[in-house]
Amino acid sequence: MAAILGGGLGGLSTGYYLLKNNVLSNNNLKLLLLEATNNCGGWIKTIKTKDYIFEQGPRTIRPKGLSGLNTLNMLQDLGLSEHVAPIKPDHPAAKNRLIYVNNTLHILPSSLKSVFKKNEPFSKPLIYALFNDIRQPPSELEDDSIYNFVERRFGKEVADYGIAPMICGICAGDAREISVKFLMKTLFEWEQNHGGVMKGLMKSIFKSKTDNNLVLSDLAKRAQEEKWNVYTIKGGLETFPTTLYEYLEDNEVAMKLNHRISEIEFVDSGSVKLKRNDGDTFTVNHVYASLPAFVLSDLVKKQHPELATTLKEIPFVTVGIVNLFFRTNKSLITPAFGFLVPPIENSSILGVVFDSCCIPDQSGTVLTVMLGGRWFKEKFGENVTEKVLLDIALKEIKSILNIEEEPTATNVKILDKCIPQYVIGHYERVEKVRKYIQENNLPISLVGSSYDGVGINDVILSAKTQVEEDLPYFKKQSVVGVKPTEETPIAP
Ligand SMILES: Cc1cc2nc3c(=O)[nH]c(=O)nc-3n(C[C@H](O)[C@H](O)[C@H](O)COP(=O)(O)OP(=O)(O)OC[C@H]3O[C@@H](n4cnc5c(N)ncnc54)[C@H](O)[C@@H]3O)c2cc1C
Repeated sequence: MAAILGGGLGGLSTGYYLLKNNVLSNNNLKLLLLEATNNCGGWIKTIKTKDYIFEQGPRTIRPKGLSGLNTLNMLQDLGLSEHVAPIKPDHPAAKNRLIYVNNTLHILPSSLKSVFKKNEPFSKPLIYALFNDIRQPPSELEDDSIYNFVERRFGKEVADYGIAPMICGICAGDAREISVKFLMKTLFEWEQNHGGVMKGLMKSIFKSKTDNNLVLSDLAKRAQEEKWNVYTIKGGLETFPTTLYEYLEDNEVAMKLNHRISEIEFVDSGSVKLKRNDGDTFTVNHVYASLPAFVLSDLVKKQHPELATTLKEIPFVTVGIVNLFFRTNKSLITPAFGFLVPPIENSSILGVVFDSCCIPDQSGTVLTVMLGGRWFKEKFGENVTEKVLLDIALKEIKSILNIEEEPTATNVKILDKCIPQYVIGHYERVEKVRKYIQENNLPISLVGSSYDGVGINDVILSAKTQVEEDLPYFKKQSVVGVKPTEETPIAP
């Protein structure tokens, strides 16, 4: 028997790939998914009415790259192709991404042509940033913050107005702390190996591209042909984990909600005791942990304090979410994806997504204001209420977007420790964790957003990669025979 801990997208995708690789049928293996709360999906949560859709967690998915195409393959396989709502290159949400600097909203340059023009708030055309890179000497480093790297290669303005708000938008983090390898691993390697980004780019143009062997579904091909920018799921993103849940349940995975695990005890290389918070224990042969690293740290600390310490070193930030619906006939916003506020502006908000522009089937104007992240405690203290966050959000959108109307409906949530921060040294830390697991023969595999990428695509690809890496292990187990575990009945 194997167990997946956590029913977020990481845990659900792990179940999907275990089924797709016939791990259960070939090894006569039973699979349990143990989720602490009363529903699966983790941070993905949609509130849907006939007038509006509020996304409390993620809302858009990128279709590009190996991980993006892989997610589209999964969506088609789950029968969700018809639910996908693409944002194509000519859509305002693809063209207009804004930043708020010096009390003004500016459109970020998005075309090659715009690189040759001066675009506020940048003081010079962006082409000068490329000259800066060519002139700058390389520096030999193991890792660096993404802010330092961009400032060194492309100048302070690109770091402040380009990368710092982007990091706020992706992980609500501080670019001065986040590892350059989080978003710009290849560019950093070009600097280290070829002396600069442009020099590395030139050399890479003449290198043949490596084939990733991914067979593309029709949906993935369509996304490539039509050059989708991002996409959402009609009716809300929660449809995705709900469909995955049903897929697992239909394929005889035992889905156990309200099962919070409080301790993991490794008995030997093929046996793990799991303790539930009500004291019940049961034994399985292998565990897939898709829990946040700090939760896993607590579960293993009694037996493996060294592993627990390294896991705890992965920091997480808290984000405040304020969803707003305005029932009006006229749109209250200029069509765009939304805007981000660079940290140097020292604002109380991270940014605002214009949901009614990105997500179809909404009447009126729908906005989501994001607050806090890396700066949550310093801006709002320890005990801020949802009412205070709502008031701040309303004040900010009134001042920035000139919206005088009162919202018809609101939703406020404080998402405690919801996004892991891949700070400098993250990748080495994760390697250390995996090495510890391997050297100590612990029958546990790590998936979920704490390790190999924080976005939806990363989490799904990480589950796929992990399951594929484990296939030889399961084969070996089935040759020697998976030791049947004594299953303590798990209360429904
Ligand atoms: C506000 C916000 C906006 C985002 N926007 C985007 C976006 O637009 N695009 C994008 O690609 N990504 C986005 N993301 C990231 C995306 O949501 C995550 O990558 C993904 O949801 C992580 O899934 P996960 O399974 O790794 O973790 P989680 O969703 O955290 O799931 C972990 C699960 O484990 C359960 N659990 C915890 N402790 C225990 C225990 N002791 N025992 C059993 N179960 C336990 C939890 O209840 C939870 O269900 C966003 C994230 C947030 C928070």
